[in-house]
Amino acid sequence: MGKRRSRIITIAVFLGILGAALPIVAASYLAWFIAVQRVQKRLEQVAGLTIMRATGTFADAKAALAKVGATSLAPCSDAHVALMRTLTVDTPSVEEIGYFEEGLLKCTSWGRTTGEFAESPTDFHTEDGIEVSIHVKPAISGGRPVMALRSGAYNALVVPSRFVDVLIDDGISIALANEDGTIIQTLNAPDREAVSSLVAGRSKGMTDSDLFATARREGMVAVATKQRSEVATGLNSERMLMLPIGLVSAIFTVGVVIWLSRRRLSPLAELEIAVRKCEFVVHYQPIIALKSGICVGAEALVRWQRPDGTLIKPDLFIPLAEETGLIMPITDQVIKAVISDLNSTLIDDRSLHIAINLCAADIKSGRILDILETKLRQADIRPEQIWLEATERGFIDIEAARSTLARARGRGHSVAIDDFGTGYSSLQYLQGLPMDALKIDKSFVDTIGKDTATSSVTPHIIEMAKTLGLFTVAEGIETKEQADHLQALGVDFGQGWLYAKPMPAEDFIVYHRQTQHKYGRAPEIIRVSER
Ligand code: C2E
Ligand code: CA
Ligand code: CA
Repeated sequence: MGKRRSRIITIAVFLGILGAALPIVAASYLAWFIAVQRVQKRLEQVAGLTIMRATGTFADAKAALAKVGATSLAPCSDAHVALMRTLTVDTPSVEEIGYFEEGLLKCTSWGRTTGEFAESPTDFHTEDGIEVSIHVKPAISGGRPVMALRSGAYNALVVPSRFVDVLIDDGISIALANEDGTIIQTLNAPDREAVSSLVAGRSKGMTDSDLFATARREGMVAVATKQRSEVATGLNSERMLMLPIGLVSAIFTVGVVIWLSRRRLSPLAELEIAVRKCEFVVHYQPIIALKSGICVGAEALVRWQRPDGTLIKPDLFIPLAEETGLIMPITDQVIKAVISDLNSTLIDDRSLHIAINLCAADIKSGRILDILETKLRQADIRPEQIWLEATERGFIDIEAARSTLARARGRGHSVAIDDFGTGYSSLQYLQGLPMDALKIDKSFVDTIGKDTATSSVTPHIIEMAKTLGLFTVAEGIETKEQADHLQALGVDFGQGWLYAKPMPAEDFIVYHRQTQHKYGRAPEIIRVSER
């Protein structure tokens, strides 16, 4: 499997997982966000309600203290005690009113006191001068801690729960504090330290552990909190609801990714990428003059070199390339490669030729000729040094083929008919075509020395080629016997594993130099017309 293919699969898997996870994560986040908004709103309500309740309670107690403070009745007289009792009864939040002289309790709304009760120490002062003791445990309360609000000689006891006397939902905690952060009362056990730090801060938001909202009025602050972990647990139902939506869009995303990557992985798409990235290299198979052993040229055979280095044989992609027209840019890349690979070798040995395979479309249109002309001129390679191979597949439009081949020869190229004998057309039919050489297909070469029906055809083909004045090139020579036989029949050139397999340019250059050393160099290329 190629690198590109595995990369595409990796990307597809990655995107697939992402596509699956993203909607679920997004849905969860949305659910969390909505839940946070809702809780926050509720906390604001609770804090507002608490502060209303607390200031109301404070105001009632203060009003009672103001009324009793204004009286001129004799302290602790029956009328004085009666007034204190009426005020206590009429003010729901006040449990008891007490009268002090020199710091000692003299009488309360319930009558004269007998023991010695001192004033409790003040925890803080309100803005309007009321002294507040948060935790007082007078005998009357039966041990419950109460709050004392003091003004002048009077003291009103208030049950602190009255300050936070609101109905709250599960998980919400509230605290009432003054602006210094002194906590007056709490409900549902909020984190006291957290509350103290929230008193001075923003009116709502989120800490590491809690959601909160605060409300402030007349020097008091109500703080409502809810733990973030509780918001998250309440979320599960919403998450479950979002799950199907996430799942559906995950399936959709994965489907799209698979569809896209399959398209990308299709052979045609891969071939298109290969053409765009110029992934084609050319190997060269030497062509030998059978009589002398001289290397007179080579056939350029294209290979697709994948990014991971593997080479793909032309049989596997040329048919698809021909079908889709991609063959034309591939031919262009072959021409470019031939020139850059062998420019100096071809200048050095003017008798050397390179045979390039043309596709049917190129034979029909002849488009390739102009491209070749400019490129060869720039590189100082002679047109005679480039042979063009055409197969019968290119002769369907015989007139167009005739014109292209004639033009090619006119410019100096030699034209060879490739795979000769494998098609339907007879030599008669091809006779009228302008050409220089016949390439005898490997299937005929294979019959040499064997007693088969076609083995008798091979000498005839060679004979006819000679009568027409054509060079012959035998393809796929694998044994010495075949070579000797073909030479005896008068075949000019041979190509096959007996001599060399197709090889990269560097190897061919070395091969050419060595055979040159051994057998010498051919005279200048001979054209058919000069034969
Ligand atoms: P072809 O033009 O008939 O090329 C000869 C094929 O026979 C080559 O296969 C070559 O490697 C193989 N061959 C040579 N000597 C021997 C031998 O002794 N024994 C055996 N068993 N095989 C031998 P290759 O390179 O795979 O090319 C296959 C075909 O692909 C070519 O057949 C040609 O039709 C096409 N092709 C190759 N390069 C190009 C190109 O640049 N353009 C076009 N249009 N077609 C090309
Ligand atoms: Ca060929
Ligand atoms: Ca051939």
